[in-house]
Amino acid sequence: MSKEKEVPLPEPGIKIFDSHAHIGLEKDIEKQEQILQRAAEYGVTRILDVGIDLASSLEACERAKTHEGLSASAGLHPNDCGVFDEEWPELEALGMTPGIVAIGETGLDFYRDRVPERDQVRSLEAHLDLGKRTGKPVILHCRDAFERMVEVLKEWSPVHGILHCFTAGPKEAASCLDLGLYVSFAGPLTYKKNEHLREAAALVPDHRLLTETDAPFLSPQGKRGRRNEPSFLPLTIACMAEVRKQSFAHCAKLCAQNAESLFE
Ligand SMILES: [Zn+2]
Repeated sequence: MSKEKEVPLPEPGIKIFDSHAHIGLEKDIEKQEQILQRAAEYGVTRILDVGIDLASSLEACERAKTHEGLSASAGLHPNDCGVFDEEWPELEALGMTPGIVAIGETGLDFYRDRVPERDQVRSLEAHLDLGKRTGKPVILHCRDAFERMVEVLKEWSPVHGILHCFTAGPKEAASCLDLGLYVSFAGPLTYKKNEHLREAAALVPDHRLLTETDAPFLSPQGKRGRRNEPSFLPLTIACMAEVRKQSFAHCAKLCAQNAESLFE
């Protein structure tokens, strides 16, 4: 077990945007408020609160109404899209409302095979179609399915969207950029073994770069074994800044500006 590490406290005035977190996966409302409070203390002033099914998308939408700095997305996670027929009509309607700033998360996940491939592709395509119709960016999850995902996305290219929690190498990052995607880096960027991922983070151009926690999952190095939360994001940004040879403040600002223009 690696040693716990202090989160670097950003200088006052630095505004960090966590472009992907699941605030609603903490069910205790009081704890949710504390998580948001701690985020603000560490400069994380904006968070995209990502829906994974109808209930969580509706909740995220409600939370965004009462919390400054929170924005909401609506979608069906590939591991949950077995309920596509039941939930999609309402999710689609929700996705068209102004309270929702992004579509997803959607994508392909062949690591867990709870839902057959053809059903995952069908759900992904419905999200891509809704993204095109609304002009809202699509949040893409991809696990053990990169080639198939690129195949689908090529048919929809250019895709206005984000490959969230990118975990591959420079070659895959280049494919994402070719498709028109933004590339978002999360806690795995900081893991010792992930040199290929740091190489990828070094080559993404400034205007396509995002960062996120994917909280409560994938805590960065120094917080592994703990439940992840947006206040840990400075650990990932510090690593990103180092591999990109940029200052922390500059890197945080680039990511925040990109997220703000995507999720307006
Ligand atoms: Zn997620």
